[in-house]
Amino acid sequence: MKTKAGIYVHIPFCKQACSYCDFHFSTSLKTAEAVTEAILREIQQQPYFEGNPGIQSLYFGGGTPSILPMRQLGPIVNALEKKFGFADLREFTLEANPDDISGANLSLWRSLGVNRFSIGVQSFFERDLRYMNRSHSAGEAADCIKRAQDTGFSNLSIDLIYGTPGLSDTEWLQNLEYAAALQVPHLSTYALTVEENTPLWAHIRKGRQAEPREESYERQFAILQNFLDSRGYEAYEISNSALPGHRALHNSAYWYGLPYYGFGPSAHGFDGGRTRYSNIAHNVKYARFGSLDEIRSSEDLTETEQMNEFILTRLRLLEGFRIAEFRERFGPEHTETLLQKITTPAGEWFIHDVGSVRLDKPYRILADGISARLFF
Ligand code: SF4
Repeated sequence: MKTKAGIYVHIPFCKQACSYCDFHFSTSLKTAEAVTEAILREIQQQPYFEGNPGIQSLYFGGGTPSILPMRQLGPIVNALEKKFGFADLREFTLEANPDDISGANLSLWRSLGVNRFSIGVQSFFERDLRYMNRSHSAGEAADCIKRAQDTGFSNLSIDLIYGTPGLSDTEWLQNLEYAAALQVPHLSTYALTVEENTPLWAHIRKGRQAEPREESYERQFAILQNFLDSRGYEAYEISNSALPGHRALHNSAYWYGLPYYGFGPSAHGFDGGRTRYSNIAHNVKYARFGSLDEIRSSEDLTETEQMNEFILTRLRLLEGFRIAEFRERFGPEHTETLLQKITTPAGEWFIHDVGSVRLDKPYRILADGISARLFF
């Protein structure tokens, strides 16, 4: 079967800066027109990956893509279709903030071909939203989900954050129960982490905001796992869960090492082999580029890096990885070494079925740390 590819477009603008966020974005829309023009140039100049794989998923992330008007979003989608063709396109996700999801916008986005939304809800408690400096209210979060569903969009994902200082275990469960009651089929759930140089980091250092409750992470992760099991959600990746048939195609492609093109400031791309590229995370410099080499840096992953990345991504997945796939890619010697590391001394972390390895449930929250211990 011919490999398929994804496309990621980074829209680096937001209405308001969420205090915990370390993604690349600007709250000034002054460069929006110029950045849009530059994305169009970038699409035009992009060489096809080997074999020109068909595009199966399109993902507009950011930043906040829902902030862009149709006169800017529309030409980007058209340029992508003209360049790559959408005959194989199955999933078109737009990240949207609740306060942008109006009836009028939903119709416009439908006309563009959007068939899935990833909505940055984060919490249904007003106190948490204020702590995170989100631009929307708890009421808007619930209303926008119903509005999208009433307009026929059933393929929705919402982001929810746990570990905020005020969030009790009962409230965390209430957030999850509410999402299930709203029939949201896909949940992306994250522990609140304080990244350096974010406003939250600065406020905590100055004593203006309370620190996230790290001691609650493990407990609230366990509450999450029990909730997912009881409601029929599959925790198919450590931070992503879905009702049957609603796994995210685009994100799954990242974890399985499939190729994806990335456009826009700070976007990354991967050719599905060993070459990765990343774009400059600076709107003004990006907007002025003439040729791709002015904004891109590429790296060829070494075999060691490829093996480590394989371990890191696959151990985050419910299914883990097939030993035969590792062997086919990296040879019998490395496979033997990996299996030895898995068996001793940390065998209890893993479920080592015939032919595959995955993390046992209680250890999934530690997936990244455990992977690091298996690195070559
Ligand atoms: S809306 Fe998203 S990208 Fe923008 S500041 Fe908030 S978390 Fe960051």
